[in-house]
Amino acid sequence: MKSASNPLPQVSQNELQAMAYSDPLTGLGNRYRLRDKVRLLAAERADDPAPFTICIANLDGFKPINDLFGAEAGDEILCQVAHRLKACMPDGATVTRHDGDEFAFVLPLVFERTGAERIGQMMKDVLSAPYDLGDRNVRLSASFGFAIYPFAGEDFEELLKSAETALYRSKRRGRGQITVYSREIAQEMKRATQLEQALRTAVIADAVEAHFQPIVRLRDGGVVGFEALARWIDPDLGFVSPGVFVPLAEERGFIDALSETLLRKAAEAALSWPRELFLSFNLSSAQLMDTGTTEAVLATLGRVGLDPARLELEITETAVMTSADTAHRIITDLRQAGVRIALDDFGTGQSSLGRLRDFTFDKVKIDRAFVSRITTDRASEHIVKAIVAMCEGLDLEVVAEGIEQKGDAEKLKALGCGMGQGYYYGKPAEGAATLRYLHDHYRDVVFGERV
Ligand code: C2E
Ligand code: MG
Ligand code: MG
Repeated sequence: MKSASNPLPQVSQNELQAMAYSDPLTGLGNRYRLRDKVRLLAAERADDPAPFTICIANLDGFKPINDLFGAEAGDEILCQVAHRLKACMPDGATVTRHDGDEFAFVLPLVFERTGAERIGQMMKDVLSAPYDLGDRNVRLSASFGFAIYPFAGEDFEELLKSAETALYRSKRRGRGQITVYSREIAQEMKRATQLEQALRTAVIADAVEAHFQPIVRLRDGGVVGFEALARWIDPDLGFVSPGVFVPLAEERGFIDALSETLLRKAAEAALSWPRELFLSFNLSSAQLMDTGTTEAVLATLGRVGLDPARLELEITETAVMTSADTAHRIITDLRQAGVRIALDDFGTGQSSLGRLRDFTFDKVKIDRAFVSRITTDRASEHIVKAIVAMCEGLDLEVVAEGIEQKGDAEKLKALGCGMGQGYYYGKPAEGAATLRYLHDHYRDVVFGERV
């Protein structure tokens, strides 16, 4: 923009303008560049109905890497990402960087969903190759959200918002996902927001309950403890699975409050069980990345008056992998306080057996996926056999999850698996029903064994 009255020399004005439109770290354009590009294209195409596409990409798990390797390594990765993206952009496309680990693209020649998905896949592949940090390599994935003009928005703000909604959905679905905005997706996200509001209300109203599923000794079927499982029935939405609302609470940042309520309720219930029974409680992955977790757990136990030695915390491999240092600290501190640690859903995560050596666990829970096929699928049987043998060697206890049939229990017993859990022994039940269960089963079994 020329302005005769401006006292600054032309070159410096250009420089200023360039600075205002670029990201100093990567040299890419910034948010303003993106906005201008989109406005320009929209204006050009105002008479011509030809669509174009914008995309936002966000790196998955960048923060833990930044924390682990330091900001300098983080910056280096961002520069390498920028370089790769620039190199793989189709003709006429623009790539910009927003704050942090978020990048955006304007794709003038992408008109519809499949084209967007194809480019998303290509960028995803390009970004998933290892990053060279001199002394080490790091791997990352990225999530993508696409929005196509004019269906997803007729002005920049609306279009960007749609791309953000699409990205948000990708993030919710895990790592490396690609979403192209549509009205259905907007609906889906709206429902998630309603669910979030309802769940927040339920947490405040103390309406999320803990149910309990027995864990037994396979040898004689005697109960050794219970796993607490969260249960929530919303007046409008009905039953919502913890597989849905726990990740939602994690994502929206109120898992601490939810977990605190649940642990309190579960620990209170455990006080009325025989002292030798343990309480197994699921810790969410977000909690394993939060250094305040140890204190929060021990404080709750202290308030309720449950001995930490009666608590087991179930954690997953994925959680341990994403934020190894923090997770290590939390596990060590909790174990020092007497809490035992079980590795949940074993065999399904991005497991590396080396992790079992790096971390100190007390117990491994074999995932239902193997257990449910143990009598029909040779491979599952061998996997379970191998896990049991490995645990024996490492001096770890083993629990098989999801035992539904007598045959499964028999087979597991024959393979030397110590403990089991599943509908065959008992479904999760609320506190009072759990006490009745104990009344009916516990004394008999213990007595029977002692005689
Ligand atoms: P999980 O910890 O692996 O829990 C076992 C799941 O398997 C439970 O599902 C349980 O009801 C189900 N199950 C147990 N036995 C059987 C069986 O014989 N057959 C079949 N088909 N299923 C069986 P649920 O209660 O829906 O929980 C799903 C997941 O949600 C849990 O998996 C856990 O990861 C998470 N979750 C549940 N409660 C909590 C909680 O209080 N806090 C956290 N952070 N996560 C929780
Ligand atoms: Mg569990
Ligand atoms: Mg499990």
